[in-house]
Amino acid sequence: MSHDQQTILIVDDIASDIQMLANALQDDYRIIVATQGWQAIQMASSECPPDLILLDIMMPDMDGYSICKQLKSDPKTMGIPVVFVTALQNNEDQERGLNIGAVDYIIKPFHLPIVKARLRNHMLLKMKTDQLEELSHLDGLTGIANRRHFDEVLSKEQSRLQRSGGTLSLIMLDIDFFKPFNDNYGHGTGDECLTQVARALSRVVKRPTDLLARYGGEEFAVILPDTDLEGAMLVAKSLHAEVNRLAIPHAYSKVFGFITISLGVANLSSAKTKEPVYKLLKRADDALYKAKELGRNRICVAEKI
Ligand code: GH3
Ligand code: MG
Ligand code: MG
Repeated sequence: MSHDQQTILIVDDIASDIQMLANALQDDYRIIVATQGWQAIQMASSECPPDLILLDIMMPDMDGYSICKQLKSDPKTMGIPVVFVTALQNNEDQERGLNIGAVDYIIKPFHLPIVKARLRNHMLLKMKTDQLEELSHLDGLTGIANRRHFDEVLSKEQSRLQRSGGTLSLIMLDIDFFKPFNDNYGHGTGDECLTQVARALSRVVKRPTDLLARYGGEEFAVILPDTDLEGAMLVAKSLHAEVNRLAIPHAYSKVFGFITISLGVANLSSAKTKEPVYKLLKRADDALYKAKELGRNRICVAEKI
């Protein structure tokens, strides 16, 4: 990663603007171009995503705000920094762009040396973020364990169970109607909400051998070694209650006026079964799905195997 050239995706419908930016940047970065919104989204979610997107706001098919919103709502593309490029100069437009999740705003006509300097800063930051994330066991936003660490601990638990038996429980949980929360309150408020929820969950998961992790966008997981189903249910109830206690207003939730979570709980007892842990994960996930289906804001227990 570190020695490959970084890529910038320029999204603009005006050829001369693309040309000017590309000329200024092509010595330092690999440049790819999209002239339509759908094309930009496709390129951003491809196997080789760009490191940064320069996004024109006024485009014929889909304006830059909607493109940015869509990028920021997909976990696959939300980590790509977006810089708006626009002739719109007023404060409201800039504020709107930044609230949707853009990192910066560049105003036409360009002063190319400033554009280059700003992008250099963003690209350096992007590189550092990528490197840190790769090295770290922690989720950059919430500070709790990340998916990688979760997978490692779960596989260690598996070996431990196979060696010496015992029991293990798993809780998967997901914020209800978080997409409308993001869409209506903005990505920044969404991030703040995720951080608060993570903090609330950490207050419950206290045993040193337990592990709370951010599993994906707004999905969390808890590994509870040496914990039977009854114990896991107690933890699940406390997690649910602790998030409710935050009372984060969510006027766009269909279940409640505040942020809620749905939870799936599963247990594995090695005395009874040789079930591999990935199946335990699947059962917890199925239980979570059931909790969603039954109306959200609740706990479901996985079927025993
Ligand atoms: P459900 O009740 O079925 O879980 O619906 P939902 O809207 O919560 O679920 P969905 O999977 O449709 O949307 C999840 C949204 O979570 C998408 C994205 O907007 C948001 N999201 C995921 N990760 C992040 C993040 O890191 N920051 C912010 N702000 N939002 C995120
Ligand atoms: Mg959700
Ligand atoms: Mg989800």
